[in-house]
Amino acid sequence: MEPVSRREWMKVIGGSALGTTMLGVAFNPSTAEGSPNGVKPYELPGLPYPVDALEPHLDAQTLTIHHDKHHAGYVQGLNAALGKIEAARKNGDFSAAQDLSRALAFHGSGHLLHTLYFANLTPKPAPPKGDLLGAINEQLGSVESLVAHVTAAANSAAGSGWGMLAYEPTGQRLLVVQIEKHENQMVCGAIPLLVIDVWEHAYYLRYQNRRADYVKAIWNVVHWDEIGRRFNQAKNL
Ligand code: MN
Repeated sequence: MEPVSRREWMKVIGGSALGTTMLGVAFNPSTAEGSPNGVKPYELPGLPYPVDALEPHLDAQTLTIHHDKHHAGYVQGLNAALGKIEAARKNGDFSAAQDLSRALAFHGSGHLLHTLYFANLTPKPAPPKGDLLGAINEQLGSVESLVAHVTAAANSAAGSGWGMLAYEPTGQRLLVVQIEKHENQMVCGAIPLLVIDVWEHAYYLRYQNRRADYVKAIWNVVHWDEIGRRFNQAKNL
């Protein structure tokens, strides 16, 4: 099997050959002269809607802090980890480089998941349709069943984690996955379609300890059109 080219990968995660992407510039590490490893640092993409657009389900203060502080922190942590790894590699200290793999996985997954999360919410939701709806009905029974399954994954995450709907291309299969922290329990190669952040910072200001109320509310602002777009791209890998 040929390695996935950058162009193919960009298709999957929402980019294009021209480097434009609905998910912002974060997934487009195009060549940059002068940077230590030849690619641009990761950047924090902007929110795709105003901070109060998801009220009352997600409040503006939570969304602001979540994006401007937490997500920004993961971007910063990812770039820092990559910089340290690059420095260690140049020094021939591969043991030190390996020690940083945990930080790379945590902050890298954190950045990518948050980019997907903010983009899979919308103030103008529409129900699932087309190929995505067909696959949900065929593989997961119904939209109601999917919602209940992802809700269970999200609500039962021990501590900090995520509920996720993903697509596994080699088996052409939808999977419901529960992620611990940002990086644990993922099925390698599966492509995230819908992600729900259940870290406390995602809901505590408005919902306090009532995580289940937050997850229930999130379904009112899920961007099924965007999830359908991700699904169609993932199928064509
Ligand atoms: Mn978060």
